Amino acid sequence: MNVYESIGLKKVINASGRMTALGVSTISDAVAEYAKAAAQSYVVIDDLFAAAGKIVAQYTTAEAACVTSSASAGIAMSVAGIISEGDFTKIRQLPDSTGMKNQVIIQKGHVVNFGAPVTSMIRLGGGVPVEIGMANEVTEADLMGAINDQTAAIIYIKSHHCIQKGMLPMEVMMEIAHQHQLPFIVDAAAEEDLQKYVQMGADLVIYSGAKALEATTSGFVTGKEKYINWVSKQYGGVGRAMKIGKEGIMGLVKALELYVNRDEEALYQENLKKVDYIINGLQGVKGLKVEHSFDEAGRKIVRARITVNEAEAGMSALALDKKLKAGNPSIHCRKHLLAQGIITYDPRPITMNDAAIIVNRIKEVLG
Ligand SMILES: *Cc1c(COP(=O)(O)O)cnc(C)c1O
Repeated sequence: MNVYESIGLKKVINASGRMTALGVSTISDAVAEYAKAAAQSYVVIDDLFAAAGKIVAQYTTAEAACVTSSASAGIAMSVAGIISEGDFTKIRQLPDSTGMKNQVIIQKGHVVNFGAPVTSMIRLGGGVPVEIGMANEVTEADLMGAINDQTAAIIYIKSHHCIQKGMLPMEVMMEIAHQHQLPFIVDAAAEEDLQKYVQMGADLVIYSGAKALEATTSGFVTGKEKYINWVSKQYGGVGRAMKIGKEGIMGLVKALELYVNRDEEALYQENLKKVDYIINGLQGVKGLKVEHSFDEAGRKIVRARITVNEAEAGMSALALDKKLKAGNPSIHCRKHLLAQGIITYDPRPITMNDAAIIVNRIKEVLG
């Protein structure tokens, strides 16, 4: 029995990826031990924040960093930091930013919902989102036309959620931001490269701890020291509602160490084995076409792709997925292509045993 079953909840097999709706990721024993030991001792919290910030800065090759409770908190606190410029009175007035430069420019194709709207996080920090261009096309003229004496920052969302074509490239936006002495923020919540955007020259870069890093629920902002100082000060203002605990911070510190030293090729081979198992197990099942699929955002991730022929299988991909979810354990796939008749399984969050359960359940449901 797992801990959730002890309060009457169903066991879940998450074969979808890093989904907040399913608990994002699970932590390793080493991370759990760090978090447990941290939760059971006292520490001077300001010193812990300083030490953890230094460690995050080293791993990300930045001048400084600030740990947060999530990437969402990182966005809100980055915006609040820039709008307040670290001024004590302004920090205490936020999120009411009356009388302050508060506009945050964002491309229309980046105004996404990751479970909550990114614009809500901008507003939480006192920002007024200024959307530029069209959903499928943003030009330099759109950006230049939006910059005025109330502009506080420009934000770029690096995510598979965003419209990928027709948007202004990050380099172009960053150059224009810096020509106007405006800070450039990158939301890289689910990204795997911890150094790329810092090295490109972004002022603040935001990551989620529980996604790629498989840390305790956490996040961080990394970048230029001047801005990071302003971000950190928000814990005396709006950031208090986004507090991260000592156990969350130490879990993040350990997870970062493990992540940076991971054997990427070995992990890939391990995941490939699970994908191969699903593909071989479902080969020849009437109405299913099973194959390998590779990540649409270009990350090195292999997945099992199952195309359901409704007429031959006797049910649609949607109906099959619904049955798999309704079972116990409840099996969750990657839903991006479900409406087009395609079920995708992400091997990263599952075990070999889970892969066997998935294969058996699909065969059972399809008779
Ligand atoms: C997941 C996500 C977030 C939020 O991350 P949390 O750590 O869950 O708050 C923000 N931006 C993007 C692009 C995301 O994918």
